[in-house]
Amino acid sequence: MKTRAQEILKRLRSAYPDAGCELQHWQTPMELAVATILSAQCTDKRVNMVTPVLFAKYRSAADFAAVPQETLEAEIRSTGFFRNKARNIRALAAVVVEKFGGELPSDLDTLVGLPGIGRKTANLLVATVFGQPGIVVDTHFKRLSQRLGFTKLEDPDKIEFDLKAILPEEDWTDWSHCMVFHGRRCCYARKPDCAACPIATLCPSCGKV
Ligand code: SF4
Repeated sequence: MKTRAQEILKRLRSAYPDAGCELQHWQTPMELAVATILSAQCTDKRVNMVTPVLFAKYRSAADFAAVPQETLEAEIRSTGFFRNKARNIRALAAVVVEKFGGELPSDLDTLVGLPGIGRKTANLLVATVFGQPGIVVDTHFKRLSQRLGFTKLEDPDKIEFDLKAILPEEDWTDWSHCMVFHGRRCCYARKPDCAACPIATLCPSCGKV
């Protein structure tokens, strides 16, 4: 399984040399945290349309903590689930200001459990802005892990540990980005394009989904 995973990663790195986080316009860990909260049940494209205006207006955790709920709701409305997202962003910002001096903490264990931050977001943050290895189990990662036969589980938090047992730490971040890129560009949820897939010969689900 480990050898197959290495070959898959090699081919996907070659197919997607620019694989990386597709949320744009953020410059600080707090801004990426906000963008990630907004991306729940929403496309990165839509989030990327909202964040330039948002980040021009609110530059720090203190700014986000101070914005009234209704104001923020109106500004992020187009990303869907805007009431919950506004509540989470403001609650996160308040904790970051009160407990961490306005700076988002950089370690996974502290990040997990902050308002609006689950394991997926915490892993994305450590991998993308803090330079640590991270396994980011989003919907694409989960679907591909199952199709590729690397997990039989459904719970993303458990899938994270299945893949951690297969991949060396230095590959966790690249693997995560490659899974998302491949899921968005070839291994679609409906009708995956197995005929064009660069890892078809390594996939037990090829032609069977
Ligand atoms: S062969 Fe098909 S199911 Fe397997 S990874 Fe490629 S696109 Fe997905």
